[in-house]
Amino acid sequence: MKYYETHKVEDGITRIESLQTGEYMYLIEGTDRAILIDTGMGLGNIKEYVDGLTRLPYDVVLSHGHIDHLGGSFLYPCVYMNHKDIPVFKEHSDKDKRDKSLQNILRVHSFPEDDYAPVKEIEILPLENGHLFDLGGLTIEAIKAPGHTPGSMCFLLREKRILFTGDACNTFTFLFLEGSLPIQEYQKTVGILLDRGDEYDRVLLSHGTPVVPKTIIQDVYDCCTDIMEGNVDDVPYNFMGVEALIAKKIGPEGARVDGKLGNIVYRKDNIFS
Ligand SMILES: [Zn+2]
Repeated sequence: MKYYETHKVEDGITRIESLQTGEYMYLIEGTDRAILIDTGMGLGNIKEYVDGLTRLPYDVVLSHGHIDHLGGSFLYPCVYMNHKDIPVFKEHSDKDKRDKSLQNILRVHSFPEDDYAPVKEIEILPLENGHLFDLGGLTIEAIKAPGHTPGSMCFLLREKRILFTGDACNTFTFLFLEGSLPIQEYQKTVGILLDRGDEYDRVLLSHGTPVVPKTIIQDVYDCCTDIMEGNVDDVPYNFMGVEALIAKKIGPEGARVDGKLGNIVYRKDNIFS
């Protein structure tokens, strides 16, 4: 079964799409080293696949500890991740949790059991705010972005003026999960990304539309304000049995009907700190 496909974003940046589960990973190559942002659900063998894409030595960084970002980590001896996400990483490494999530999002309903990276002990290297990865001609800066999870991180590719947000800020930002920060706290995170808006032009996401303009950050910031002020459409949404609300009404393709990009899925009991 074919699990991955690549799309060249531009020189030095490759988007790797998981064909069965839909999430994206990014391979960024400098002149000396490369970096892999996220490892997907863990179907197939992402390590072998990426090893075939680059001859450079590379580090693996996780934007956060969710199942659809950590799955292939177990194929590596170590990965970088913010240690605040270690509890969620452990929870999402559980076999039952993985099986349930796969049933929920899998585009096909069976695959060879051996094609699922087995969970094993790996070293999780610390990833702090401001951590720099020098790839040779390209520099990645890790920026803390708590909200979706406590340890969520964004990555700024300075020279190319690109911000990778993982799930920290996107077109359907999940803030209803156990462990998600209240909207009021999360808005501070988005405010920091907004304050740094003169350092990037584009935002690359992990799900859905892969490349979006940076106005998405302002949209999500404003969405936080609208949630706190009750200026929302509150469309009911159920995710694996958890009831939540979509702040701004969406059309059949999942895009906001008012034409804005950023949106938030939240719970009424998780708005104020
Ligand atoms: Zn996530």
